[in-house]
Parts: sequence; C-alpha cells; structure tokens
Amino acid sequence: MRITAKTKVCGIIGDPVDHSLSPVIQNAAFEALRLNFVYAAFPVKDVEAAVKGMRSLGLRGLNVTVPHKQTVIPFLDALDDHARLIGAVNTIVNEGGKLKGYNTDAPGFMTALRRAVGEVKGKRIVVLGAGGAARAIVYALTQADARVSILNRSADKAKALASEFGAHSAGSLDDLSSLIAATDILVNATSIGLPHGIQESPVRKELLRKGLVVYDIVYSAKSTPLTELARKTGCFVIPGTEMLLETAIVSFTLFTGCDAPVEAMRRALEEDLK
Ligand code: NDP
Repeated sequence: MRITAKTKVCGIIGDPVDHSLSPVIQNAAFEALRLNFVYAAFPVKDVEAAVKGMRSLGLRGLNVTVPHKQTVIPFLDALDDHARLIGAVNTIVNEGGKLKGYNTDAPGFMTALRRAVGEVKGKRIVVLGAGGAARAIVYALTQADARVSILNRSADKAKALASEFGAHSAGSLDDLSSLIAATDILVNATSIGLPHGIQESPVRKELLRKGLVVYDIVYSAKSTPLTELARKTGCFVIPGTEMLLETAIVSFTLFTGCDAPVEAMRRALEEDLK
C-alpha cells in the first residue's frame, strides 16, 4: 500500500482497541480494490476530543466500539434513522466536514442470520444479554417481526429493553429453562465466552438440542465454549465472526461508496484469527 498526501484515513476508536480485527479486515479490502485508503486503531478515552480531532484532521470515517457507542452521539451532526432508534453509533462518516453516525451492528447481525435461516418473521428467538450489542439485535429482530424474549443477568435491564422495543417477554438468565423448548433461535449477546474473559458457556448442555439454531455473537479464533457445546449437541451454529464480517462490510461501503470485496475481507479475518 502506498500512502500519499491524498490517502483517506479511517480507523476505530475505543478503549481498549488493541484486540480489534477491524484494521486487518478494512485494510485488506482497501488493498483488494486498490483504494487510496488506510485504517488504523486509536485507543481513545476522551470521545469528545476524538471527534474534534476527526473534524480537524479530516478523517474520512471511524468505527466506534466499547465504551463510546452511546456517548459519542451528542458530538455528531446527524444520525441515520436506525442509529437514532437504537441509541448507539458504531460507524461515523465525514461528509465534507459533516459527521453522520450509523449503526452497522443491526444489519450485520441480520444479514448473517438471514443467510443461515431465511426470514425470521414469527420465529421464537431468545436473546441473552441486554447491553449495547443486544440493543441493536433486539431492535433489528423486533423490526423484522420476530417473537423476541430477552434474558439478562440484571433482569430489570432486560425488561426495560423489552418494553422499549416491544419484545414479547423478558426475564433473568434462569428463565431460559422454561423457554428453551419453544425456542427456534438462541442468541448469546452477553460477554460470556470472550477469549480473555469468562471461559464458560452461558447455557447448560442439557438445555441445548439437535436442530436448535445457536448464534453466539462473541467471537474467537476457534470456537467459544457455547459454540463448542452447541456443535457437539447437533445445534445449527452461527459463529460471531459472521456478524463481525457483515458489520465490517456495511461500514466499508459507508466509508468508500464501493461494494465490499467480501472474499478478501473474509480471508483476512480468517488468517488473522489463526
Ligand atoms: P456490554 O458491556 O454492553 O453488555 C454486556 C452484557 O453481558 C450485559 O448484558 C451483561 O449483563 C452481560 N454479562 C457480562 N458479564 C456477565 C456475566 N458474568 N454473567 C452474565 N452476564 C454477563 O457489551 P456489548 O453488548 O457491547 O457486547 C457483548 C458481547 O458481544 C461482547 O463479547 C462483544 O465482543 C460481542 N460483540 C460482537 C460483535 C460481533 O460483530 N460479532 C459486535 C458487538 C459486540 P448485565 O446487564 O447484567 O451487566
């Protein structure tokens, strides 16, 4: 890649960001299409200062990750409708000095889900977790008319999220045992299973069954404790890397205006995870 005075700069801001796979995926895409773009990771504590920097340096685009997805919003000039309704931004595009925020978690999650199972209207879906990622997921699933139940360690957060987006029901993680028999798709959007976090499955083996769709948005090089258990049980597994890739694809198009070179991005992700 040849960096010139015309190179457009993109990146990711968050704290921490040193584990992010986005630079690898996005730079592979720029190279595949020979675009004069570059993508870097910026550890950021002061999000307001980072957005000011984006304006003054004329950065083309930024992805935003934990803990800034919600706190970044007041510093932007515009939001697309999905980001406004979800209340979280993970992509900012600089259009001639005007900064617009988007949420690509919601479409990224849905694209990978629809590719695996088709339409989700009327499907009975349990979402574990009520944090930032779960917000985008519950928003997308309720928009698609799925029948969503939200279960979370803090049940009050699950209930608040359910009433905000019109989900079918909400409760604590312990309620899964009474719901699982009538569940088509189980989504893990808690942080349980992260490679450097709690290495256990959020779901007991006896609650899994052959044919159940298990979508674990937590991603890791091989499998997470949940996807490993689910595969052994004969569940249909959607790994978190699928959502990661799909969200990156949407962000790439927002940054560049080009269709994403999907295979180059997938290869780069798989290579890096090895
Ligand atoms: P948040 O910190 O906003 O939310 C974390 C969620 O996990 C909360 O619901 C929290 O429950 C729950 N949780 C945390 N620790 C425990 C525990 N020990 N036991 C039970 N529940 C727990 O994180 P995000 O929503 O942003 O991210 C969640 C996960 O999704 C992360 O692993 C992240 O890497 C992954 N992710 C993957 C993406 C992808 O593209 N594949 C995209 C975005 C996120 P409580 O409310 O009770 O604290």
